[in-house]
Order: sequence, then C-alpha cells, then structure tokens
Amino acid sequence: MKIPVVPLKGIVILPRMLAHFDMIREKSIAAVQEAMMRDQKVFLVMQRDETVEDPGLSDLYTIGTVAEIKQLMRMPDGVIRVLAEGRDRAELLYLADNMNFLEGEAHICPAVEEEISPVEREAMLRAMKDAIHDYGEVNQHFMETASRTLLMINTLPELIAQLMIRFPVDAHKRQKFLSMETLNMQYSLLMQVLAQETDIGRIRSDIQEKVQERLNKNQREYMLREQIKTIREELGDDDIDSEIDEFLAQTEALEASEEIKEAIRKEIKRFRSMPPANAEGTVSRTYIENLLTMPWDKAAPENVDIKAAEKILNADHYGLEKVKERILDYLAVREYSGNHEGSILCLVGPPGTGKTSVAISVARALNKKYVRVCLGGVHDEAEIRGHRRTYIGAMPGRIAAGMKQAGVCNPLMLLDEIDKVSSDYKGDTGSALLEVLDPEQNKRFTDHYIELPMDLSHVLFIATANTMQTIPRPLLDRMEIIEIGSYTENEKLHIAKEHLIRKQRKKNGLTGKQLSFTEGALKKIIHSYTREAGVRQLEREIGEICRKAARKFLTDEGMKPLRIKESDLKEYLGIEKVHYDMAAEQDDVGIVRGLAWTSVGGDTLEVEVNIMPGKGKIHLTGQMGDVMKESAQAGLSYIRSVADQYHVAGDYFEEHDIHIHIPEGAVPKDGPSAGITMTTGMLSAITLKKVRADLAMTGEVTLRGRVLPIGGLKEKLLAAKQAGIRQVLVPEKNRPDVAELSSEITDGLRITYVSQMDEVIENAFSEA
Ligand code: ADP
Repeated sequence: MKIPVVPLKGIVILPRMLAHFDMIREKSIAAVQEAMMRDQKVFLVMQRDETVEDPGLSDLYTIGTVAEIKQLMRMPDGVIRVLAEGRDRAELLYLADNMNFLEGEAHICPAVEEEISPVEREAMLRAMKDAIHDYGEVNQHFMETASRTLLMINTLPELIAQLMIRFPVDAHKRQKFLSMETLNMQYSLLMQVLAQETDIGRIRSDIQEKVQERLNKNQREYMLREQIKTIREELGDDDIDSEIDEFLAQTEALEASEEIKEAIRKEIKRFRSMPPANAEGTVSRTYIENLLTMPWDKAAPENVDIKAAEKILNADHYGLEKVKERILDYLAVREYSGNHEGSILCLVGPPGTGKTSVAISVARALNKKYVRVCLGGVHDEAEIRGHRRTYIGAMPGRIAAGMKQAGVCNPLMLLDEIDKVSSDYKGDTGSALLEVLDPEQNKRFTDHYIELPMDLSHVLFIATANTMQTIPRPLLDRMEIIEIGSYTENEKLHIAKEHLIRKQRKKNGLTGKQLSFTEGALKKIIHSYTREAGVRQLEREIGEICRKAARKFLTDEGMKPLRIKESDLKEYLGIEKVHYDMAAEQDDVGIVRGLAWTSVGGDTLEVEVNIMPGKGKIHLTGQMGDVMKESAQAGLSYIRSVADQYHVAGDYFEEHDIHIHIPEGAVPKDGPSAGITMTTGMLSAITLKKVRADLAMTGEVTLRGRVLPIGGLKEKLLAAKQAGIRQVLVPEKNRPDVAELSSEITDGLRITYVSQMDEVIENAFSEA
C-alpha cells in the first residue's frame, strides 16, 4: 500500500493511541495534506537520529504505525498541530521522495498467532496487574491517571497495548516495543520495564523521603528559632543572641584544651535552648561565665632568679634567717630538678609572725600571681570542692574560685589556716584537700560546680598554720614544715623600726620627716600596749598613731614634725593596755607558777592547791583537759609513794581531799607540761612548805618522779621573763633547745635543769 510518510522526532505513535504532535517541516505538512485528500491515512515513523532534517529510508526505523488523521490545527509560526490515532503496526518497505512529500510503501504486519493457554494468559494478566499495582505505589501520578483504568482491563493483549500507551517511558523503549512481534515478547519487555521502573521509583522516593525529612527538620528548627527570637523580642531580651555570639567568640579565644572548649560549647547550646530569664537560664549563664573566666591553660611567665628572690625576701622581712634559708633551698631544688610538683611548704607559727607576708614575698620574687584561700572554719567538703549545680545558689569551691581570681594556671596559692579545717558529717574536707595537694591527683582536680577537670599541677602551694597538732596526718605528710617562732621584744623593735613604721606611714600618707618614733616609745608600745607572739597588734598600734598624726597634719597646716616619745603614748593610744601577771611578792604555800604554751604564744599560769578534810578525793578545776588531769593523778601517786620522805602520815590521804585549780577558768588548758608544777603545788600544800614566788617551772612528771621534756620553750621563757620571774626549772632533756635560743631570751633568767622530782622540790621550796 502506498502511503504518505511523516518522520517523527522523538515520538512513537502506537496502534490505538490518540496523540498530538506538531509539524513544521514542509515535506511533512505536504504529506499530511496529501493524506487528507486521500483517505486520511499516514505512516508515522520515528527517525533514528533526531538531528537529521531530510531523512531517507536508512534514517528511519522500519517499523512504524499507520495512523488516521483526526484533526489539523494551524498554529503560529507555520506550525501545524496534528491529532492522529494509531491504527496498525506496519513495516516500511520502500521510500520515495515524491516531489514535495515522502511517500512510502508500507506493509501491515499481521498479528502472530501464539499458543498461550487460557490459564497461562490469566496468570500473565494477573502478574502484570500486580506489577502495575506495585508501580502505582511509587508513582502517585500514574496511579491516579492510569492504574485504575488499566486494572479494569480483562484481556491480556488489550492490557499490554494500553499499558504501553500510558506508561511513561522514553521514545526508544516505545520503538523497541513497537518492533516486538509477539505478545510474549511484548509482555516480557513490559514486565521488565515495569520492574525496573518500580525499583527506580522506590529508591527515588526513599531518597526523596530522606531529603524531605532533613528539609523538614531544618525548617522546623528554623521556624522554632524564629519563634524564640520573636518571643525574646516581645519580652525585650533580644540581646540574648548577641550574648550567645559573644560567649561563642570567647570560647574560641579561650586558652584551653579542645575537651574543655567542646564542653563549653555544649553548655552554650543548652543555654540557647532555654527560655531566657528563667531560673535555669540564669544558672546556665553564670556557669558559662564561670567556665569562660577560668584560667585553663593560661600561664604567666615565671622568674626564677634565686639571688633576686633572696634580695626580695631580705628586703621584706627582718630576721627569720632560718625560714628564708629553707624557702630559698626549696625554690632552688624546685628549679634545679625541674620538678615543680615537689612537696608543699607549710609555714607554722603564731599569728602575726609574717607567714602570709613571707608567702607574698615569695610570689613577688618568683613573679607569680598571688591568691589567698582561707581555710579557717571550713568544715564542709563542698566549700573546698564546690556545690553541685543542682543546688540553688551553687558556686565553685574555694580552690576553683581562687584559680579564677588568679586568672592564670600557675599562681602561688596560699592555703591559709590549714590547721583550722575540720571534718564533719558533710564530707571529708581533709581528703578533698589531699586531692588538691597530691601531684598524682591534682592534674585533673574536679570541682563539683565546674564539673570539668582543672590542672592544678602548676600551682605553687604554700600553706600556713598556727599549730601542727590539728593538721590531719596525711596532709602533714605531704607538706614540708617550716616553723616560725614568736618574736622577742628586741626583734619586734627591729621589725617596727625597719618595716612597720614605714608601711603604716605610707598607708596614711605621711613622710619620714613628718613622723618619727623614739626607741623608748616603741619599746613601751611593745611592752605595755601589745601582748602577742607576732607583730600584728604592734602594727595596729603604730597605725593608730599614724592616723591620729595624719589628722593633725590635715587640720593644722603649720604643724611641726612629730616625734613620738614615751610620754606621748597616753595621748595617742590611751592608757596602757597590758598588765602582766607579775610574780607574787611573797612565797606562799600551795601556789606554784607554771609556764604554758598556746598557739598564740607563751603565758605563765598559777597553779593553786588546797587541802581539806575528806575521803582522799582529788578535784581538778579550771577547764583541764584529760591529759592534764592524768598528769595530776600521776603526780599524786608519786607523792604518795614518797610520803615517808616528807614525813606525811600513812593515813593522811584517806582523810583529806585535794583540790587543784588553775585560774582563768574560762580558758581551756591541756597538755602534760604542767605535771611538775601541780606535783610541787600538792606537795607544798600537804607539807605546808612555801614555794618561791620568783620561780617558774615546766616539765612532764612520771609516776616515778622523772621529769620529761616539753615543747614551746622559747615562748615559755619569754613569758616568764615578762612576768618578772628570776629562775626557771627546765627538764634536763630540753638543754639543747635552750642552747639554740638567742641570748636575748635567756639573759636575766637563771635556768636550772632538772631530771628528777626531788631536784624540783629542792629548788622550789623556799626552805628545806
Ligand atoms: P601571719 O600570716 O603569720 O598571721 P602576717 O604575715 O599577716 O602574719 O604578718 C602581720 C604583719 O606583720 C604584716 O604586715 C607583716 O609584714 C609583718 N611582719 C611579720 N613578721 C615580719 C618580719 N619578720 N619582718 C617584717 N615584717 C613582718
């Protein structure tokens, strides 16, 4: 059959398919017009290559479709739109270029009879419907427009034909389908395409879902953030964002490990998500601020010039030779060995003896930042290690706060009054301190509030204490003890002249020309206005004079320079504040002077003994501690064992009670060193022999009357001298201690060494 031919670009019209296509090529338009004049039939066939403008036979596929033209429509720009319906599958056998249009000879392909059993057909039908259904699930559009119609078709050839028409595949696949001769071949091609497209569709929708999910999440976050922003703006705290930015910038600039920074960032994120101005937000903000001000890895350069350090120590302090020596040794070793983790220095001594000020000098000498952490009265572990943030008003502990205050990770930290920490039910303060001081553990010290490990291993710790007795043993073992003793009056005089006056004058804006002191005045201040082991009170009194003088200079411009004499002191400081318990004028029975040592210095104490008829009981009053009471018992037992010697009747002790009292009953007293004093008192009261008033004694007594050594001799002797005592009995075993003391202390005192109770008695009783 001869028929006009229209070559198509990228379109395949299948039998039974109603489709539009546009034409612009003149030959095609002419072919259609020719067809309209004949029987409206054209042969539609796809070009193998779309770019060919004037195709010949070899440029076209051989199999095409004979179609009937239903409608022609003229479009702008010379385009003709054709509505055509595919009729039969046909093969192009020959093509002639017929002047102005293509004409070919086409041969309609006969349907191929195949042997497919009805059961087989049914199975194929169902399988195809299933496949269509599956595909519909991944292609919503297909399901809505085609699936339903297709699923209602009940014959296999019809289903195959319709599916191919409606299935969205590219033209070359359609062409392939068109070239298939048998139903079976078409079926398997379609099933294959369906399966493939379903797979692709599934994967695609998977991907799409994920993308969507992510998009949704981002969008949600964005919306929420915008909402928060609006809420914040409404509430008037829209500066929170700039605050967060500021926090983040500070975090980046922080000198800290990545671990720390990451933790801070996390907290900032948490903070951002919190409603502002609520309690939790405030807690979080304070926490972040605290973290940002901690000196994590920020170190200050250190100066270790031992010579310079020595100069500074000497310039700041009078005396204290041994102390300075040991500190310099310590610093030298620390530097020389390169081991900055060594033991910790602990300065032990009475108040006002310059412990704090020595530490400050050390910091100055090493060019280190100085922070003071006061441990006095700390009995809660949380004060050292901080409270957990769940507590309202939680704060970092004192150590962390100290580090924050220092601002660098290698300061000198003074642990003041380490002897005054105590442990109670609220946790073990001692072990918290141990963790701070232990070089093994303090690399990662964790404050409960901060919750991040801090490195304390670069800190130079110096501790101070008034006494070693109350420092927990494990702590004591970690520290190198340096003792600072009380000052003598002469030392105090030097300290006043060389340091305190200058300091106080400067503090009050006075010059050396304006105000000076005579030595006599200073001595009197020391002796009659202060009573202390250190020089704190002395400094205060000098300060008082400076203040009053400053006022005078301010109110009276013509004021002449002041030189403070002994006689001026009454005007500046009032009447004398200190009265010493001077030695009694007269020897007495049952009254003996002992010498005591307390953490604030030495003192004399008067032991009184009275005997009364009774049943052999012993009464002890004046707040004596257990050790002291036992010491009195031991003394009494000794006396009973030697009663014969002193002509005491055998039944004396059954018929008398003994009462020992130590005045100033409100002050607790303890320790064994009043042993020989109480024993002498008892014996004097029993034998009615007088004890010398100008004599004092100290020493522990044993059951057999031996005299054992005691501590704190320097302070005790100073106290004795101040009280006007002339002779002091000291245990023989303390002889080396006395030898170490400067002659300023021992001058004017007769020191007698005793090792047995009878030597004590011999010296103490005024007549044998
Ligand atoms: P502590 O810490 O032992 O209680 P401080 O260090 O506070 O005593 O000393 C009190 C005051 O006495 C400070 O002003 C200190 O400078 C001064 N001071 C103490 N000892 C000396 C000394 N040896 N030389 C100079 N000043 C001293």
